[in-house]
Amino acid sequence: MTRALPAAEGASLSEVLPPFDQLSPRQQSAIDCVLCTRRLGMNGRVLGEARHRGFVFRLWGCTPGCRAAP
Ligand SMILES: [Zn+2]
Repeated sequence: MTRALPAAEGASLSEVLPPFDQLSPRQQSAIDCVLCTRRLGMNGRVLGEARHRGFVFRLWGCTPGCRAAP
């Protein structure tokens, strides 16, 4: 699951992402979506990055707009 992400897109979305320390271990490990907690499978995408205890983690979510979907 290596997909290039435009820097501008990640920066704009990072404002609405939950704080890293409030995520579950599965979300922190890119197993579940950081927004809706559903399992990502092969449909994940990087929403942004978070700094935690000196490390940079990538936050993964469903394909575009999972939280806005009906
Ligand atoms: Zn989701």
